[in-house]
Amino acid sequence: MQNFWFRVSLPVVFGALAALPLWGIFSATTALLFMLAVLLIVMAYRARQVFKLWNWLGDARLDTIPEAGGIWDEVFSQLYKMVKRHNQTKLELAAELQHIEQATAALPEGVAILNEANRIEWCNPLAQQHFDLDAERDFMQDITYLVRQPEFIKYLQESNFSEPLVIRPARHDDLVLSIKLIPYGENKRLLISRDITQLERIEAMRRDFVANVSHELRTPLTVVNGFVENLQDMPDLSQDSARRALQLMAEQTKRMENLVVDLLALSRLENTQDPLLEEVVDMEALLNEIYQEGQVLSGGSHSLRLEVLSNVNLLGNREELRSAFDNLLSNAIRYTPKDGTILLRWTERDEQPVFSVQDSGIGIPPQHIPRLTERFYRVDRSRSRDTGGTGLGLAIVKHIAIRHQAKIEVLSDEGKGSTFVLVFPVGRRVTGGLSQM
Ligand code: ADP
Repeated sequence: MQNFWFRVSLPVVFGALAALPLWGIFSATTALLFMLAVLLIVMAYRARQVFKLWNWLGDARLDTIPEAGGIWDEVFSQLYKMVKRHNQTKLELAAELQHIEQATAALPEGVAILNEANRIEWCNPLAQQHFDLDAERDFMQDITYLVRQPEFIKYLQESNFSEPLVIRPARHDDLVLSIKLIPYGENKRLLISRDITQLERIEAMRRDFVANVSHELRTPLTVVNGFVENLQDMPDLSQDSARRALQLMAEQTKRMENLVVDLLALSRLENTQDPLLEEVVDMEALLNEIYQEGQVLSGGSHSLRLEVLSNVNLLGNREELRSAFDNLLSNAIRYTPKDGTILLRWTERDEQPVFSVQDSGIGIPPQHIPRLTERFYRVDRSRSRDTGGTGLGLAIVKHIAIRHQAKIEVLSDEGKGSTFVLVFPVGRRVTGGLSQM
């Protein structure tokens, strides 16, 4: 600081020292005039430097910093350092901001900042998607003009945000959003939106599933209960009636048992953590077993044929494949009237192993085909039940197909018959000996 004052006053001191001899030689007026001239020069010089500084401050860039002498050199040098530091901080802040923007853009949730008047100050891309917003166009727009659902507006007006709000946005009614408002800072609010469409779907499926299972169990349970009560109330029931009642009860308990067996099979297959235990399955042996079982199940009511047109074997899980083929064959038998024909075929299509079951049965109306593999989906409820169906067979086939990366194809002509086809990927094809049937 001292150095500063010394350097600032130096020109004036030198001027005063030079003025002293002039006072001695000429007069005090001459010395004063000289002093005045020195001061004017100093002031003009400083005014020029201030002007340069003023000019430069209009567009303070490092490359245009003016050159100056003396103390001004130091002033400009300090300014130069300050601007450099400032630029550095600006760069760091911009990088930080970019970081935060990237992080919020990558968030799996929509985020919007609202002010106290519900105006949008900022939002990330997912929030734009959820609410059909445009960050630039809708900047500082009142969000209640853009998202008009009454329940949303009511939620914004409430002061209790502990529970999230679930809404379907007007323009995307296939989307289910869970919305939460979090107050922060001075009257600011974070609007967080989460896409829970998938969760809702799973929850709806779970509810349907529980309702379906309860419904499936209720009928046989009611029947069995009814018979038990009858037997209790009528101890002197004739042997014939008792035998008949027991037989009907056995049918119903069998029905419940089938249901539980299929449910357990489905739950095992759905457990994706269970890896598929693979082996090379001897297809000829497996198909023969299934064919024999089919003969027993049909009880001679149908003409059953097995065609093995390929000698390839399959890499897969024998028990699961057997269950899938069994289900398809048992459906063909159950949905084909007496004397109908059923053809089991093992062949190849462009090197892809193909298993198919073709029947001349009742067929399926086309509108039902896409839904056949849903759990408990039946075209004809009573026919399915009367033949011991659980409504889960094709759901089991679908899961086994998925686990073996196979495609299911269904071709059907109502009243004429159906063909269910499983097309396996080439990667599961294992060449083996040709079978002779
Ligand atoms: P279910 O135990 O009722 O047979 P599935 O899941 O095996 O259950 O089949 C679902 C529905 O698909 C059946 O209820 C039936 O309406 C229809 N379906 C399945 N296979 C055939 C077929 N070969 N011919 C006609 N309809 C079939």
